[in-house]
Amino acid sequence: MSSKQEFVDNVKAGKVLAKKCTKCGELHLATIYFCKKCGNKGFENAILAGEGTIATYTIITVPPTGFEKYTPYAWVVLNLDESGLRISGFMAGIKTPSDLPIGTRAKVTGFDDRGVLIEKQ
Ligand SMILES: [Zn+2]
Repeated sequence: MSSKQEFVDNVKAGKVLAKKCTKCGELHLATIYFCKKCGNKGFENAILAGEGTIATYTIITVPPTGFEKYTPYAWVVLNLDESGLRISGFMAGIKTPSDLPIGTRAKVTGFDDRGVLIEKQ
């Protein structure tokens, strides 16, 4: 199974697949080749709960081609509880900043052509 498919399968189950350095334990979100902290090349999978708080976001009112049917929505950055890792994704139905105060509890709920789907908890 590719690491991309593995990542998607975990997101669909509400989890986030991270890479944990086998030497220093630093967690990394993306596919990487060297640990950012110690330079080690060895990693093991770490499955994190896909829950956290909204760190920042951008409300999209002028969507890219193919996304017109989804507006309004926000492209959000979720700060994961356990690790402090940040994952970005799609949140539907956000029109104004009052719809989504910074710090709102949210979780990953799925994955499709929009990318990672994030919903309020
Ligand atoms: Zn390391």
